[in-house]
This record gives sequence, C-alpha cells and structure tokens, in this order.
Amino acid sequence: MRFQEIAARLGIDGDPRLAPAEGEPPPGVAHSENPATGEPIAGVRLDDAASCERTIAQSVETFRKWRMVPAPARGQVVRAIADELRRHRDALGELVSLEVGKIRAEGLGEVQETIDVADFAVGLSRQLHGLTMPSERPDHRLLEQWHPLGPVGVITAFNFPNAVWGWNAMLAAVCGDVTIWKPSLLAPLTAVATNAIAERVAAAAGHPGVFRLLIGTDDVAGERLVADRRVPLISATGSCRMGRRVGEVVARRLGRTLLELGGNNAVIVHRDADQDLAAKYVVFGAVGTAGQRCTSTRRLIVHEEIAAGFTARLVAAYDTIRVGDPLAEGTLVGPLISSRAVEGFEAAVAKAAQQGGRVLAGGARVAGRGHFVRPTIIRAPDNLPIAMEETFAPILYIFAYKDIEQAIAMQNSVDQGLSSAVFTSDVRVSERFLSAAGSDCGIANVNLGTSGAEIGGAFGGEKDTGGGRESGSDAWKAYMRRQTATINAGAGMTLAQGIRFE
Ligand code: NAD
Repeated sequence: MRFQEIAARLGIDGDPRLAPAEGEPPPGVAHSENPATGEPIAGVRLDDAASCERTIAQSVETFRKWRMVPAPARGQVVRAIADELRRHRDALGELVSLEVGKIRAEGLGEVQETIDVADFAVGLSRQLHGLTMPSERPDHRLLEQWHPLGPVGVITAFNFPNAVWGWNAMLAAVCGDVTIWKPSLLAPLTAVATNAIAERVAAAAGHPGVFRLLIGTDDVAGERLVADRRVPLISATGSCRMGRRVGEVVARRLGRTLLELGGNNAVIVHRDADQDLAAKYVVFGAVGTAGQRCTSTRRLIVHEEIAAGFTARLVAAYDTIRVGDPLAEGTLVGPLISSRAVEGFEAAVAKAAQQGGRVLAGGARVAGRGHFVRPTIIRAPDNLPIAMEETFAPILYIFAYKDIEQAIAMQNSVDQGLSSAVFTSDVRVSERFLSAAGSDCGIANVNLGTSGAEIGGAFGGEKDTGGGRESGSDAWKAYMRRQTATINAGAGMTLAQGIRFE
C-alpha cells in the first residue's frame, strides 16, 4: 500500500517497468523485498539479451547528439534535474528507506547527496577546462582539451541505490556522456524512480535517452554491459569480488573502469583524544546504515591506556540504540538487506568467538520478521583473522595499541584502503597519520569518523577498494577523453626535438 502511495507521489505508478508483487514472480520479473518485513514491495520487469542490445545501441545514438550540446546547456538540464529531485526528495528518500532499510534521515540524506552533486555538476559545466602549454616551436600553439567519452555503464550496489548513480550520472551528463545504469536487483525500485525523474526532465528539454536503465541479472545484463566495446567506461560500485571480475572483463577489451569497492575502515583513538567526540563518531560510523556503508567503521584501534574506559563507554551507548522499523520515529538502526546478510553476520560473530574474540555487546539477530541484528562490539586479540574481512553488518572489532606507529600499521594491515580516521589533539600524531608513511587509504580524517563524506572532495579508495575516484574535485576527468592539440600557424615544417628532415 505504502509503495503505491509513494509511486503516485513520484509519478511512476504507471511505469511499464513495474509489475505487481503477488505470488511467485513470473519469468522475466523480479520482486524487490522490504528488508524490514521480508515481504515483496513490487515487481520489476527484467531486461533480456535483445532489450540490452537495444538499450546500448540507442545510448550510442543519443550520445552522438548529446555530445554536441554545449556543456553549459547540458548543465542547465542537470540543474532542472536537481530542482525536480528537490521536489521529490521526501518521497524518494522514503522509497530508499522502504527498499533498503535506511532510517528516514539517511534515506533523505542520500537523495540530498544526489542533489548536492547535481548542483556541483552545474558549476562544473562551465569549468571543463584544459591547459595551454608553451610550444617549443615558433608560431605553434600547444593545448589540451576535454571531449565527451561515450556511453558510461554505471553499476551500483544496493546500499546507495540513489546517490552512487547521482555521483556518476550528474557528472557524466555535464561531461557530454549518456549513462546506462545497471542497479542492484536488491534495489531496482529506487532506480526506476530516480531514472524516471531524470529522464522526464531530460525529455522535456528535448534530450530523451540521456539516462537509461538496464535491469537484469548479472549474467544477462551485467556481463553484457561490461563486455560491450561501445561502452568506453564502466563505473562499478560493489564488492571486491565483483570489481575483480568487472576489472578483468573491461581490461580484456582495453576499456576504462572506475572501481569503487569494499572497505574495512578503522578509527584510531589516541590517548589524548576528545573521547566524547570520538565516541559519537565511532557509534555513528559503526552502526549507521546498520553497518552497511562502504565507509562503515569496522575496526577501532584504541590506545591501551584508555582502551578499557572507552570500550565501556561504547558498550553503554550501544545499550541505548533502538533497532527497528527504519521509518519509525526514534529508530537509529534498520534491518540488514537480506536473510543472507543476517547469516553472514552470524557466521562472522561465530568465527570471531572461535578465533579468540569476545562479544561485549549484541552478537545476535533480533527475533521476529525482518532482517534485524543487534549492533555488535567484539574485543579482538591482535590480528583477529575475521576482522581482516569486510562483513557488511554492524560489527565493530576493538584492538588496543601502544604507540602510533603500531596503530597506523594495524590500520593499514587489511587488503582494502577506503576510509580511515584518527582522533587526537596532538598535531604530531595527526600529521604522522596524514604523512606518506601514514594512512594508506583514499580518505583520511582527523577528529571525525570514517563515514559521511562531502561531495566536494574526490571519493574512493586504494588497494582492493579499486583506486577509482568519483564525485568532487577533478573526478570529472574520468568521464572525458583528453586530447592534446598542436596548431602550426607558421609557414614551414618545424619538427619537435630539433629534428631536421630535409
Ligand atoms: P555486489 O558486488 O554484490 O553487487 C554490486 C553490483 O554489481 C550489483 O549491481 C550487482 O548486480 C553487480 N554485479 C555483480 N557481479 C557482476 C558482474 N559479473 N557483471 C556486472 N555486474 C555485476 O555488492 P553489494 O552487496 O550490492 O554492495 C555491497 C558492497 O559494495 C560492499 O562491499 C561495499 O563496501 C561496496 N560499496 C562500495 C562503495 C564505494 O564507493 N567504495 C560504495 C557502496 C558500496
């Protein structure tokens, strides 16, 4: 019932993609489930091989026209999309909550992030500038310029069903690219709604087809998109397992990838830290979005002198956290995405106990319907093997350290390199953490947590996180091709490096 009402507010109630969710889904249809109840919300029709081919071919056609629209005019279309998203922010945020279980504030925050990046992209549409360099030859001019790249394949994870598309699609659009979005089958309804909003604005401006969707299984839609040479850039967000596969397939055809993969993020709390501040950020980072952010705080590395007191403070805070219906007032932690995710959580807790960890808070699922678990704290001996893995659930492993070099080494000891943070009031400690010998992550914060990045900076991580950068700063360059041009305004032939050829 709730979905019908939201769909009507979003203007997608008649969308041909949608199907009723009654009984078993017929062939060619998938159901999206509400993780808070385990019940289906609505069905979506899946793309097959023929419709994938059609979508990619049409995107190539649309790109040919879109690339010739002046960039500031493309920016005006993105500006109108931001306005339309503002009008629908509440309904879209609620849909995010319904489909992936984020609490209301986080569902709204996610849509706000897309609006923010759209605003950023509008400004960018007048700043896609190249450089001019002095030529070594008389009467020559040397410059570089940036051209649109082509259709961009955007593969998104379930946990940011709106904003990750926004980071990519808004930048790609001002850069002159069209997007083909393959969302997670765990969150297709948010994708249908988001894409419909963008597409109706683009169509009204005379540019239908700049934003297209491919909804389907990984083998039919995903693999087809990734392998297609007509799609020069694949921007893929998800697990390291998925990134390895996508990276390999795209590299084989010498295409480009932008990979935003898993994280295993740590917070270091030094003995001189403001512990009130650190505790607030650690709790938000570890339990926010039920521990299902790529930037969630999964490891806490605390100075041994304060470890016992700081841990007790966290355990007390965890006792007060309300887990439940994500759309209910006062809820801080919603459900995990699926029953499989709950099993993954239980398996990790059991392994941690076997490997010498001690559960200090939580550690179990919540009985009843829906995929709820208790936020969990585990005191960990050094090198606890399970803590080296990313378990997509609210489990926080606590380690103790003696000196900052040891803490940084512990923080860097995992395969992933996404986000990191230190809490300290000693500038020597924070500078060490930010130095070349410090954190090896794409994001390194001082006196704030690992999650909740602003859109203005480039976002992404190193090592197994994939190396991609999205969102702010100069991340736009990934969506364009660079062309170096030399112009001879003189009469004769002058070769570089002084070569004579007469
Ligand atoms: P997932 O890897 O299961 O799926 C991600 C997406 O990849 C989905 O759309 C899926 O259908 C698609 N996919 C999987 N195999 C594919 C293939 N062979 N070809 C084409 N597409 C394929 O991840 P998930 O469970 O949806 O999301 C959680 C993971 O995503 C976590 O590891 C999390 O850290 C990561 N994540 C990273 C970032 C980041 O910015 N670094 C952001 C959000 C999530």
